[in-house]
Amino acid sequence: MITTRAWAGRRYAVLGLARSGAATVQALLTSGASVVAWDSDETRRLQILPGTGRGTGAAGGGGAPQAISSAENPLHQPAATAALQPASRDDLPPADRSHPLRPPPRTGEDLSLADPLSLDLAGFAGVVVSPGVPLNRHPITQHAGDVPVIGDIELFAQARAELPPHKVVGITGTNGKSTTTALIAHICETAGLPTRLGGNIGLPILGQDPLTEGGVYVLELSSYQIDLTRTLDCDVAVLLNITPDHLDRYDGFEGYAASKARLFAMQSKGHAAIVGIGDEASAAVARQVARSGRAEDLTRIAPGVCMDQSRWPALQGPHNAQNALAAIAACEALGIDAAAIDRGLESFPGLPHRMERVATVNGVLYVNDSKATNPTSTAPALAAFDRIHWIVGGQAKTDDLDACRPAFGHVAHAYVIGEAAPLFARLLTDDMPVTQSGTLDQAVRAAAASARAGETVLLSPACASFDQFRDYEDRGDSFRSAVQALA
Ligand code: ADP
Repeated sequence: MITTRAWAGRRYAVLGLARSGAATVQALLTSGASVVAWDSDETRRLQILPGTGRGTGAAGGGGAPQAISSAENPLHQPAATAALQPASRDDLPPADRSHPLRPPPRTGEDLSLADPLSLDLAGFAGVVVSPGVPLNRHPITQHAGDVPVIGDIELFAQARAELPPHKVVGITGTNGKSTTTALIAHICETAGLPTRLGGNIGLPILGQDPLTEGGVYVLELSSYQIDLTRTLDCDVAVLLNITPDHLDRYDGFEGYAASKARLFAMQSKGHAAIVGIGDEASAAVARQVARSGRAEDLTRIAPGVCMDQSRWPALQGPHNAQNALAAIAACEALGIDAAAIDRGLESFPGLPHRMERVATVNGVLYVNDSKATNPTSTAPALAAFDRIHWIVGGQAKTDDLDACRPAFGHVAHAYVIGEAAPLFARLLTDDMPVTQSGTLDQAVRAAAASARAGETVLLSPACASFDQFRDYEDRGDSFRSAVQALA
């Protein structure tokens, strides 16, 4: 776990108690801070309590502050029930909260449950918010006033001064973050560097043990996480691309792009900035970095660079050429030698649900790209294979598939599924044969029946999954099962 004396004796509110929130509570308490924790989901609230086998329960066994022991914790007394009451008020704007603000818990009560919106937050050192909380709509920003609204990455940034000497690589972009983050971490490991993967991928960063001297923390950073970060000075910062996404959370596209640009604004001079310049918004960020007097720190990754990717089985397609170039530049900035970088690129196993080669059945390759949840991320997958039986659809994020159009010539047949099926059938029918399959299972069976040896059946839905699946992982797992059932 990552801890620091900087938090000792200070008071924090933690809003959102999923994995990173639970690890945050634990790290703060172990560092000697006091915490008021809240989640609108009662199960999560209860899991955070000592002795429940999660969250602070684990801290209780390992040198956690005395006051969170179940005997002393106020949550185990009748008053705790009162603290649970504001749950149903969670979605109300402040104007509708007619109850008076309560004073925060007394000093010495290191952990308590209360909705921060019901508290007077004066004197708090920070409100630590889960990246899942939409800051543009949620009343917490206004309610917090001068109290910083931050995330676990900012706490990590604050703890860095007490960690053994290390480097931080931060990776952002609309598409390709996870792949590039995992690839950089893999190359670092291949080069023998102590490495941790965190942020939007893998385990919460505050829950992981600090690295020994010379270690590298490789952090995937969504724009939501950057919004909650103020002082993360990345030794190497990477921006892959910026295309329209998550626009419900920002004041238009400019707001979304500005959020990504902040990763570089937090960097000090001399630290490496690596920026893909395949779209206008990212190119503008590159110009901004250069203008800020950091031109020497900047590496631009141009689109369409021809590379021999034949020795990198998990890095096929033009988008992965871009991801690989960004990873190579990042690893060079870390001082990793070319031979280790080569070994890392060759041995990278890839990530599940991103152009994942699931099986070859009767000479037909089946590829799971369930993570492609918008047309921009599907486009490169279509470009990566020659004759594709394309399974597409789900919950549409756009009303067009224009980003995919340049690769339509690679599609032998489309199988449309989910809510978007009627719309996508209309959009595609002039360019290719289309079958309305409805469900993923039916689409796999229909594609298997018509695909010939040497062709590829590709699930790259260009849509969110929530109409038919729990999430994109569930959708990818279902695809894998349907393919296995064919064999
Ligand atoms: P993220 O973590 O940003 O969502 P992933 O690495 O998980 O990105 O990839 C998500 C999807 O985006 C994959 O389906 C992949 O085909 C596509 N993709 C990956 N890298 C890029 C890129 N550099 N540009 C465009 N699309 C990409």
